Amino acid sequence: MPSLRARFQFRILGSRSAGNGITFKLESGEPSGVDDNTGELSGLFAPERVAVVGATESEGSIGRAIVENLRADFAGETIPVNPNYDEVFGLACYPDLGSVPESSEIDLAVVVVPPTIAVEAVRDCGEAGVRNVVVITAGFGETGSEGASRERELTEVAEQYDLDLVGPNSLGVMSTTSGLNATFGPENALPGSISFMSQSGAFITAVLDWATDEGIGFKDVVSLGNKAVLDETDFVRAWDDDPDTNVILGYLEGVEDGGAFIDAAREASGDTPVVMVKSGRTEAGAQAVSSHTGTLAGSEQAYEAGLEQAGVLRVENVQELFDFAQILSGQPLPDSDDVAIVTNAGGPGVMTTDAVGDSRLSLASFSESTVEALSEAMPEEANVYNPIDAIGDADIDRFERALDLALGDENVGCAVVLSAPTAVIDFDDLARVITDLQADHGKPVAAVLMGGERTESAKEILREGGIPNYFDPARAVGSLDALSRYREISGREYESPEAFDVDRERARAVLSRAVERGDNRLGVEAMDLLDAYGISTPEGVIADQPEEAVAAAQNIDGDVVMKIVSPDILHKSDIGGVKVGVTNEDVYDAYEDLVTRARNYQPDAEILGVQVQEMVDLDAGTETIIGMNRDPQFGPLLLFGLGGIFVEILEDTETRVAPVSEREATEMVEGIRSAPLLRGARGREPADRDAIVESLQRLSQLVTDFPAILELDVNPLVAGPDGVQAVDVRLTVDTDELDSSDPNSADRPTEELDS
Ligand code: ADP
Ligand code: MG
Repeated sequence: MPSLRARFQFRILGSRSAGNGITFKLESGEPSGVDDNTGELSGLFAPERVAVVGATESEGSIGRAIVENLRADFAGETIPVNPNYDEVFGLACYPDLGSVPESSEIDLAVVVVPPTIAVEAVRDCGEAGVRNVVVITAGFGETGSEGASRERELTEVAEQYDLDLVGPNSLGVMSTTSGLNATFGPENALPGSISFMSQSGAFITAVLDWATDEGIGFKDVVSLGNKAVLDETDFVRAWDDDPDTNVILGYLEGVEDGGAFIDAAREASGDTPVVMVKSGRTEAGAQAVSSHTGTLAGSEQAYEAGLEQAGVLRVENVQELFDFAQILSGQPLPDSDDVAIVTNAGGPGVMTTDAVGDSRLSLASFSESTVEALSEAMPEEANVYNPIDAIGDADIDRFERALDLALGDENVGCAVVLSAPTAVIDFDDLARVITDLQADHGKPVAAVLMGGERTESAKEILREGGIPNYFDPARAVGSLDALSRYREISGREYESPEAFDVDRERARAVLSRAVERGDNRLGVEAMDLLDAYGISTPEGVIADQPEEAVAAAQNIDGDVVMKIVSPDILHKSDIGGVKVGVTNEDVYDAYEDLVTRARNYQPDAEILGVQVQEMVDLDAGTETIIGMNRDPQFGPLLLFGLGGIFVEILEDTETRVAPVSEREATEMVEGIRSAPLLRGARGREPADRDAIVESLQRLSQLVTDFPAILELDVNPLVAGPDGVQAVDVRLTVDTDELDSSDPNSADRPTEELDS
């Protein structure tokens, strides 16, 4: 990643509120070093000199739109660059960046030239010493193979010159503190404290248009484009460091590097809420799936688990995205989830109560003194229990008294205030009362002033106080719910994954042997892999002669289990390839029989032998599954569920992105619907939960250590009262990855490991 750079620049201070009447204060050229609180990527959002490479006055062109937008509000200098003109809109125009006086002090270059010369234009930026570049030009990775190779070139150039590059195929960037609008969108955003990134440029223009009507303001806006260099992780980091950003919003279609994103978002979400909208995801890059885990832990599960682990508030639609953003930027977090409802209309009060029932919030029960005071203040017909119904003839004083008492109650964490239009209530007065009382009590409030035109000025008053207003009570409750969710997230303490003492080399040897054989699908012949990582397995021997099988069985106490071992037969029971409870006398015949079955099933199947395995007491234990499927974006996704033959029918599983901490592994085990079964239902002894949790943690370490493992199932992992036993394993290995990735390569020669 491009690093922070110390540089001279103007620090520009603006107001935080989304309202009007913003004044800018310009502090003259004081040095702003790496520890300046304008944070990372400040050259991008708070530049002083901006060059437009491809500037033009040509009607309807993007080059013109960018120059016009910059000239509108930007406090700094706009420098057109284009060999065809001497002047653009009266500004001196230079043939190339190098010809601009003191070109190395240009903070940002916006590139709008045709795709065929765009990479060269970016190289010129690098040569001229410009470090921040926004590539508006389209015709890269989004257009096919020629564009894709152009994009690779672009990335190389950016790396060569250490550029912080946005795009290509971007609408541009905006920052309201400096009045910077380096986009070709139709309008500038209102100032505010929400910073917003979007993978869709069109979505930005639509959102800005709507947000301006709604009075919603922004701090920074970035259109991510193809994310050739800077991606969502960089902006989460930058905005986490930015004191003027109170909420980070994102519209993402995918995440480039899930692990890095989780780290950055976790870090940010401690003090800055991160809200992301769900959107369709491509399955591109997902490998053919042959495991249960692969079927049950797809990319949607990875996205969901990853965002949850990252502390991101994931929303379902655009309305929620901005509802949450608004309330998170305008209201304090509640101390408790107990809601008071104050209304002058029964019906909407009931709707609100229902919505509370569907949320993680609950109806507050007022203290005795509140009920008494309310009874005194309200007419007899009013309801003084929650929801407080001040009834239709409530005037502003009665409303004020009711809300004051409700917010003053120690059992109340937050409130919804509802009003239908009546002859005795003026919405503007009510808005002022709500705003004042919210500020007095410091508890979050959402308003539902129901109506059309007549609510307009009241909404404005509420907005000034940071209080959202909705027509639909469910949205008000949903927003308060988001505050509660974020309170939980911001209080999280993340623990790091445990590092167990494991035998990495032995694990690697198991994988290498398989690769040497030319197998990328492995079965029980890879049991040693689990053993090397401390996941307990029953005693087992792979025999390639019946006599050997007989000898192996004699060394094992009691009856044995016998399984065909073949990379071509992955679901052994399906072909009768597993025999449970084989007595010593029957081992010879069982061996022959298993091999015959395999041959009948697939005459050219490669047969490695027959595994003779110690019996595990299934009656005392529960068959569970632990597994991993590698997601192209989030990496290893762990799965836990009930195992055996029901796993895909029940779909009762929990997933988390690895590596997982002990707490996350515990949440997985406790999180499945059938968790009570493991706690010992119907007189059975409870399963050893700690042993399951530890197996998950060890599996997490294994798949993190070996990126070459593409998918893996341990099914079943038999969970008994005193520990677990992995009796089966199946995995797919990326043979190229294993050759190239050696986790120990930094400190030991490869020859030693491959031997
Ligand atoms: P596959 O999944 O390929 O069919 P498994 O090794 O999982 O093969 O065996 C199938 C089933 O046989 C298991 O789900 C389990 O019920 C039983 N089984 C396998 N190994 C043992 C064992 N060592 N002890 C007891 N039961 C076993
Ligand atoms: Mg199995």
